[in-house]
Amino acid sequence: MAISTSVRTHEPSLFDVAVEQFSIAADVIGLDDGMRRVLSHCRRELTVNFPVEMDDGSVQVFTGYRVHHNSGPGPTKGGIRFHPDVTIEEVKALAMWMTWKCAVVGLPYGGAKGGVTCNPKVMSQNELQNLTRRFTTEISLLIGPNRDIPAPDVNTNPQIMAWIMDTYSMHHGYSIPGVTTGKPLILGGSEGRAEATGRGTVFITQEAASRLNLDLGASSAIVQGFGNAGSVAARLLHEMGVKVVGVSDSSGAIYSSDGLSIPDVIAHKARTGSVGGYDGAQGMTNEELLVQPCDILVPAALEEVITEHNAADIKAQLVVEAANGPTTPEADRILYDRGVVVVPDILANAGGVTVSYFEWVQALQAFPWTEVEVNERLHRIMTRAFAAVYETAQRYNVHMRTAALCLAIQRVADFTRVRGIYP
Ligand code: NAD
Repeated sequence: MAISTSVRTHEPSLFDVAVEQFSIAADVIGLDDGMRRVLSHCRRELTVNFPVEMDDGSVQVFTGYRVHHNSGPGPTKGGIRFHPDVTIEEVKALAMWMTWKCAVVGLPYGGAKGGVTCNPKVMSQNELQNLTRRFTTEISLLIGPNRDIPAPDVNTNPQIMAWIMDTYSMHHGYSIPGVTTGKPLILGGSEGRAEATGRGTVFITQEAASRLNLDLGASSAIVQGFGNAGSVAARLLHEMGVKVVGVSDSSGAIYSSDGLSIPDVIAHKARTGSVGGYDGAQGMTNEELLVQPCDILVPAALEEVITEHNAADIKAQLVVEAANGPTTPEADRILYDRGVVVVPDILANAGGVTVSYFEWVQALQAFPWTEVEVNERLHRIMTRAFAAVYETAQRYNVHMRTAALCLAIQRVADFTRVRGIYP
């Protein structure tokens, strides 16, 4: 999986952005001050510095994090990211968004996130395995099938989930498949998990398009990021007749107003390692791609790519956030004023955690489901969540991000209040 090597500096931090979004929604639902204080903090933040022996015999020390935002009605849940730009502030924001995401689709989880500041692009498989196993050991005070369940995120994949599961199982002396999700099928992974985030994004796109009277068969789309979330979303949109005119990865973007053959682009990327250089399309930068003509824009890479600097130039009328945090609060306001509908990350990419939940249930019961069952249940949950958020947006007359947050925060506040404050 390709990654960006640019260093993004956040001023304000990504966690400040997450708290600002929270505050806007808390105002709308009139959340009391005590609950605001509770929910605007992360409950636990673990920072670990740990050594890894590299292939050349040298020893490197890496820094990693595991954060629990809110221990909800069940264990906490959230992915692990390996990326040079990972910081505690980013992980805290992502953990808070996981709480809201699980609540918006009604999963019995609180929110968590983890990450290691590293560049997996320059590491061998052996080094990655050493890093993953030692990081798992360091955060094993927090994780567990009934405590906190990691999953893949940027630059982590089923193999890494298998190493986490194996390491945790070795500590306990028996196999514990429920400790991670996104595992390989052979190790108790779920049918449909690999495609779940992109598939969920596409279910949400269908729901949004029908409310906007947008005929998908006559629409065009741009997808930024061509990894797990983006490539699946692009392929499924292409299969349902949407003209996908542009895609990108960290190496750059390609655009063709006639539409791209997404299966060919996937084959090209598998052959060459990037979407760049694909025949019959114009090459451009990621920044240029975002403002090209299209009806639907699917950011599926990293945070803060739609900002006050480019929001006025976005041509799409519908933005569906497969990535976490791609739109800044300033950009949200500009897009809303321009009538562009933004379906927020905590709804649009919740397919991943939803099928992770299915995988966890299957692991606890040792009873696998078929892919048809998985996709049908996913469809039911995503469409129900979309309808609830859409209805909330109409009721409060707010944009969909605030509506999704209102719904989620109300649910989390309700169960937090019912549990009470210990002791
Ligand atoms: P991935 O590592 O599989 O893919 C990331 C893609 O983004 C790659 O194609 C990479 O080349 C591209 N990219 C990286 N930097 C870029 C840049 N600066 N400009 C353009 N493209 C760039 O990761 P993923 O799992 O697909 O995650 C992508 C986003 O989706 C993240 O925000 C992640 O948090 C979110 N997400 C993922 C899941 C999941 O199940 N994988 C679930 C929910 C949300």
